[in-house]
Amino acid sequence: MGEVTGRTTVAGVIGDPIAHSLSPAIHNAAYRALGLDWVYVGLAVPGGRGREAIRALPALGLAGVNVTMPHKADAAEACDVLTGDAAALGAVNTVVVRPDGSLLGDSTDGAGFLAELSALGVDPSQSRILVLGAGGAARGIVLALGRAHARLMVAARREAAAAAAADLATGAESHDWRDLTTLVARCDVIVNATPIGMNGEPPPFDPALIGPRHVVVDTIYHPAETPLIAAARAQGALAANGIGMLVGQAAAAFTLLTGYDAPLEAMYAAVGSARSRG
Ligand code: NAP
Repeated sequence: MGEVTGRTTVAGVIGDPIAHSLSPAIHNAAYRALGLDWVYVGLAVPGGRGREAIRALPALGLAGVNVTMPHKADAAEACDVLTGDAAALGAVNTVVVRPDGSLLGDSTDGAGFLAELSALGVDPSQSRILVLGAGGAARGIVLALGRAHARLMVAARREAAAAAAADLATGAESHDWRDLTTLVARCDVIVNATPIGMNGEPPPFDPALIGPRHVVVDTIYHPAETPLIAAARAQGALAANGIGMLVGQAAAAFTLLTGYDAPLEAMYAAVGSARSRG
């Protein structure tokens, strides 16, 4: 990114809170790597005003925005056209202002997650995957894994939410949160899509159940090492935090917004990465 001028194309991310978002660092690094005259900013939009902010994008001349908490559902309502993923999820994390001024909404979290699994050497079509949680992140992951023909088990503390998430993928099973011991034994890949571990909470099952054959992906990226990730490494499992998914969803959004392939190396360099085996 050189000097910002009147000709610079502006994109950004709307959310509340937004100050600690890593998206500006990731996207601006990508613009610099490709020499694009673009700038990406964090836009603090209070809850309840997401729709209004998104409808204003064409008038402001922004190229588009990423959307984070709490605006993802409002963004889906505000867009003129939704991709299949965004429509299925009722959530949008990327809004593109098209040349005619209409708004296209997509959800790139699932693509980001699949990119991370691929980087870890996991073929979803050959894997039994346990997803913990049934919120926005879990639903995007389940939808993408279903399309990739994974054998899926979704566990959440609210039965109805687990069932609704499992409905997004053909053949996915929904399970009771109290069945985690059995489920961990039955799966190859464990995905934490709950906030458990953000504040040092231990995994919701006995970590001794994790073995070297498991791959563990925590969607949390702050802290870089949750107790689940630490336990997985201690048990000899391949483990990754949420940085890969974060960069993966940003890369897909970058391509939607700019039309260019994403410079992944520069994007990772902006935020680091954490994949390792204990
Ligand atoms: P969300 O929509 O609020 O969903 C959170 C899910 O976790 C819900 O199913 C919730 O259950 C469950 N949960 C929360 N606390 C729990 C507890 N103590 N025990 C059992 N279940 C619990 O949030 P989200 O947007 O999906 O985000 C979830 C996590 O994903 C966050 O940690 C976030 O950092 C991460 N994330 C990462 C990326 C990335 O790119 N790496 C992207 C998006 C999100 P209830 O419905 O019963 O509360």
